[in-house]
Amino acid sequence: MDLSTSMRTDMCGRLTAADAGRTVSLCGWVDRRREHGEHLAFIDLRDHTGVVQCVVDGRHDLRSEYVVRMIGEVRIRPDDTANPELATGEVEVDVTEIDVLAQAEPPPFPLDERTDVDETIRLRHRYVDLRKDRLQRNLRARAVVNSAIRRGMEAQGFVEVETPMLVASTPEGARDFVVPSRKEPGNFYALPQSPQLFKQLCMVGGIDRYYQIARCLRDEDLRADRQFEFMQLDAEMSFVAQDDVFAAISHAVAEATEAVTGERPAEFPRITWLDAMERYGSDKPDVRFGMELVELTPIFEGTEARVFQAPCVKGIRMEDGVEALSRNQIDGLVETCQRWGAKGLAWMKVIDGDDGPTLDAGVAKFLSSDESAAVIGALEAGPGDMVFLVADERRLVRHVLGLLRLELGRPPVNEGGLNYLWVVDFPLFEALDADGSPIPAHHPFTMPHPDDLDLLEATGEALLDVRSQAYDLVLNGWELGSGSIRIHRSDVQTRIFELLGIAEEEAQAKFGFLLDAFRYGAPPHGGFAFGIDRLAALLVGETNIREVIAFPKTQSGSDPLTNAPSPIDAGHLGELGLRVLPPST
Ligand code: ASP
Repeated sequence: MDLSTSMRTDMCGRLTAADAGRTVSLCGWVDRRREHGEHLAFIDLRDHTGVVQCVVDGRHDLRSEYVVRMIGEVRIRPDDTANPELATGEVEVDVTEIDVLAQAEPPPFPLDERTDVDETIRLRHRYVDLRKDRLQRNLRARAVVNSAIRRGMEAQGFVEVETPMLVASTPEGARDFVVPSRKEPGNFYALPQSPQLFKQLCMVGGIDRYYQIARCLRDEDLRADRQFEFMQLDAEMSFVAQDDVFAAISHAVAEATEAVTGERPAEFPRITWLDAMERYGSDKPDVRFGMELVELTPIFEGTEARVFQAPCVKGIRMEDGVEALSRNQIDGLVETCQRWGAKGLAWMKVIDGDDGPTLDAGVAKFLSSDESAAVIGALEAGPGDMVFLVADERRLVRHVLGLLRLELGRPPVNEGGLNYLWVVDFPLFEALDADGSPIPAHHPFTMPHPDDLDLLEATGEALLDVRSQAYDLVLNGWELGSGSIRIHRSDVQTRIFELLGIAEEEAQAKFGFLLDAFRYGAPPHGGFAFGIDRLAALLVGETNIREVIAFPKTQSGSDPLTNAPSPIDAGHLGELGLRVLPPST
């Protein structure tokens, strides 16, 4: 390699004993400096592959984060100074030439992983934060996920089609971000909540298998697993049933998983929505651990105990809970369950009785001996276990015990493996609104379950039993994504709009172009979308998607790096036909 024409010959983190004797040129950042005797200094030189120890003349002014090029000979470190912790620990570079390419102010925070730095400061100087191992590893893993998904989809005949960012409102049920139009003041584009309508138009257009790694924008409050803008693998297929969609998506997810972890996941199991709600109290069950919700309602039919006189009673068992939980902690759990909406939380200890395990403490004294025995039997409880029961309306019991289960049993993010799960047969409607109209659980183009089409003629609560052909993919308790078989029959679509209280003119105004398209020959179709930020986060063991996004917003939605969102000047506002009102108090 000609050192006069190329800046570097090697990457810092890749030098090994085999390189001893070679003259190398390295480029990177000064990671650490240690003085060595009177004349020499050790510089750990860093690039994204790691660090290597360089021995330099101590008179050089080389400070933390200076960008330098160093030329020198690789040599084996004297025996007792090798560092087995470091990939390059057997060698060092005897530097003969140093070029300071850029000086650097002291970094705004230390770059080691041990120091806890306020997130706003990290994000304000994200370019410094990105130099850390953790973000380097995460972003590179994320790139691997993207390319594995692309490979996986293309191998199955999917074609990547890009869809516009300036669109009319899309029906995912969140608030739109909007962009004012200069050409038509007073009018607005929406930024896409998803490419939903366009991918369906692609099906009408004969694309057959569409995919896109798509940016989606939803104006919702941010959380650990939610940013305003996020990336999703968006897909749509013609002439398919649910199973075909599962096969296609599972393949892409398995490819991505294997590419990052080295292990291919087994076939993803399925659970119906109803089963998930009954057994885990959640439509995104974390099945890394048991502690399932057990049905106890029949046991308490005709009970004398007031606390259990309710339409539904369920319980969970915490193995060895007696030892694990202090009385204070139990009281805390009761309060927490009340905050979640329960009237109370009934708890009991299982102890060794004269005739086998028996219930003790808590509300045990209110139970008849038959009830006691039946509860122990149903929960398969043994001495040392704690049991927790909630009695109330079924929805509330599931909700509260589902959360309590997570609170008591959920393993840390990087334990328990990757448990993918398809949740199928979602209800078509989530609830009834104040006027008694059903609220769609998914977008309004979701096909009802074929066996439930007749039920669409029902009214009121009965509508909540209509199942749909909508499904979610769940990973360790996180909803990765959702999809459905779509309605391509205009009679069914009209009925759904009618049920949702969407009048014909409104349907025309909002989705007219899609309904028009369906009049020109629409194939049956279905699709899916899953969040790449969430998948990447879980694959690298992060609990917050911000750790796998190069330039995320803070929890409150601002960007400390660019200061967005920020005001625009009066001239620009005028051009857009806008006037800003003072914030309402
Ligand atoms: N458009 C849906 C979403 O973004 C996914 C789908 O139905 O394909 O959540």
